[in-house]
Amino acid sequence: MGKVETLRHPEKANKPENPSPRKPPWIRVKAPTSKGYAATKKLIHEHNLHTVCEEAACPNIGECWEHKHATVMILGDTCTRACAFCNVKTGKPGAVDLNEPDNLALAAAQLGLRHMVITSVDRDDLDDGGASQFVKCIKRLRETTPETTIEVLTPDFLHKDGSLDVVIEAKPDVFNHNLETVPRLYPTIRPGARYYHSLKLLDRAKQIDPSIFTKSGIMVGLGEEKSEVLQVMDDLRSANVDFMTIGQYLQPTLRHAGIDRFITPEEFEEYKKIGLSKGFLVVASSPLTRSSYHADDDFQNLRQARLEQLSGS
Ligand code: SF4
Repeated sequence: MGKVETLRHPEKANKPENPSPRKPPWIRVKAPTSKGYAATKKLIHEHNLHTVCEEAACPNIGECWEHKHATVMILGDTCTRACAFCNVKTGKPGAVDLNEPDNLALAAAQLGLRHMVITSVDRDDLDDGGASQFVKCIKRLRETTPETTIEVLTPDFLHKDGSLDVVIEAKPDVFNHNLETVPRLYPTIRPGARYYHSLKLLDRAKQIDPSIFTKSGIMVGLGEEKSEVLQVMDDLRSANVDFMTIGQYLQPTLRHAGIDRFITPEEFEEYKKIGLSKGFLVVASSPLTRSSYHADDDFQNLRQARLEQLSGS
């Protein structure tokens, strides 16, 4: 493990290496070299913002940033958990940046975003898990660019009673919380979280505000069975989740969880068909699908699908 990686993930420094199979041709992505990419990067850094695009080493960054679609990660760049799949830096986070809501709103205005996705690191150290910072960001965005629709991708707020309520009451258009994987793999892949707690969070979000769109996603290729993925779909539908995302897990470093296998594009397509047949309004399922990938266009599809459902067409 290189020095930089050890600094980013000290808890993984003594873990064994997990070699993964070679990437298949359908996983290849273009290097981020466009002018649009460089302009987005400059603007994000000028406003002292962090993005999950960079911190998670997302393979889509070249494409998304060329189109100015960046997903801002609030509450700093350091996560209090240490999931086996995630490239975000772990450790003791610094103080919350009080200018973050203003900077985020300014960046959204300058990027001209029609739809903005806001996510965060886990902040188990804060009494509210960071919920009030989400609320401030939503309010500031509404004041600055009222036409921008807002999607929040939140942590699970485990043991933080009331946090979910204040976020939903701030009225984001989409509440997104990822299950990440099937329940059997939680102890190794997402050990700090509880599958049924995350599921209940999604269910409660819809109960608090039935008009909100809810969204959740998983990574595949971690060793899950197809039947387990279908069970997750049923669980999400029983929590009235509208939108499911499914993408291939990619290993950030050799000491993160290894890739069990690469799911083929045909299998992703099948998951999409099955998901839609189970009643999701939208299913995004492809090797490079990520929670916020094409979130803008997908939000338009989501709204359209609900309108069609309501009109019975
Ligand atoms: S898919 Fe999401 S995280 Fe990845 S680059 Fe695009 S906006 Fe960022």
